[in-house]
Amino acid sequence: MDKPDSERSKVKVAVRQRPFLHSSEREEPCLRILDKQSVSIMNYRDRRESVVYSFDWCYGPDNSQQELYEEAVKPELSHVLRGQNASVFAYGPTGTGKTYTMVGTSGNPGVIPRAVGDLLHASQATAQTKLWAVCISISYLEIYQEKVRDLLDTNKQDLPIRQDRNGAILVPGLTERVVDSYAQFERIFMAASRHRMTASTQLNHTSSRSHSLLMLRVVKTEQVTPFRRFFGKLHLVDLAGSEDNRRTGNSGVRLKESGSINSSLFALSKVVDALNQGFTFVPYRESKLTRLLQDSLGGSAHTVMVTNLAPEQHFLFDSTSALNFASKSKLVVNRPLTLQS
Ligand code: ADP
Repeated sequence: MDKPDSERSKVKVAVRQRPFLHSSEREEPCLRILDKQSVSIMNYRDRRESVVYSFDWCYGPDNSQQELYEEAVKPELSHVLRGQNASVFAYGPTGTGKTYTMVGTSGNPGVIPRAVGDLLHASQATAQTKLWAVCISISYLEIYQEKVRDLLDTNKQDLPIRQDRNGAILVPGLTERVVDSYAQFERIFMAASRHRMTASTQLNHTSSRSHSLLMLRVVKTEQVTPFRRFFGKLHLVDLAGSEDNRRTGNSGVRLKESGSINSSLFALSKVVDALNQGFTFVPYRESKLTRLLQDSLGGSAHTVMVTNLAPEQHFLFDSTSALNFASKSKLVVNRPLTLQS
């Protein structure tokens, strides 16, 4: 049985500016983190006067992976453990740090390893009380050229997307694996990540050519009467970057991939506009991405969006577009539900 909550949850937005990648770069940055909640960017028309934007959190090159995770992401885990859905997604132009933010490096883990580690830890602590049994399972997919591919079973190349009677988005047939330990998760995730579509473009050596979604399902079952059961989900999304093909040097397959990425990101922008204008019709069905994120934007999940930005002047136009998208996303309001039986 579903129990609707009356709470409203605004989409929370963090901005993260990566450092210059080469120490030889001495150009003036096109944007500056002013304080914990504001960022300024040059006006792309005259490159002088700057425009200031405010967000829930603004991070610069000196802010660590841990800081971003602890402040912007970790609080979402408590929603998942009490039977609600939460989504965290990284958005921004190619080469600005989305994968760095979500996955990180071996010495500097990002949101995904930290969130999985903490969820496993919290569920083990809960289970030790003997009052609850907790089961965590993962699924991992990518949307590549408008096809949903199962990264845990590459034989599944074009899975459907459906909606259940509660409005929850489902991918029937998607592989789900129970994980008991971090080491087991790491093995599965590393192997599956190698199946992701990546390629080298002029903007980034290993640019993601797909949107990826890691789903963690947490089922918490009470061991004493009244034997309640809570169903929480955490979606961790690494979006492919928007690309200006005049700069990518893309042609052939790369250009086709880029067209598909850009049109799904355009559909995402239209969904946010429709929600903000209060339209009764929201065009979620225009792309697989918007269909899958339906719950995260205007739906029943708590959502955090991390907008990644680069300081180089040649990113000015793309960074301005990303900030405009982030600015309208923070106006979206969700209505979280607690899923309980
Ligand atoms: P994207 O996924 O947006 O295409 P990446 O995550 O691949 O971009 O980042 C591009 C490059 O920038 C990588 O070499 C990455 O290690 C580096 N990078 C990104 N963000 C940071 C950061 N906050 N600190 C240090 N290096 C970063």
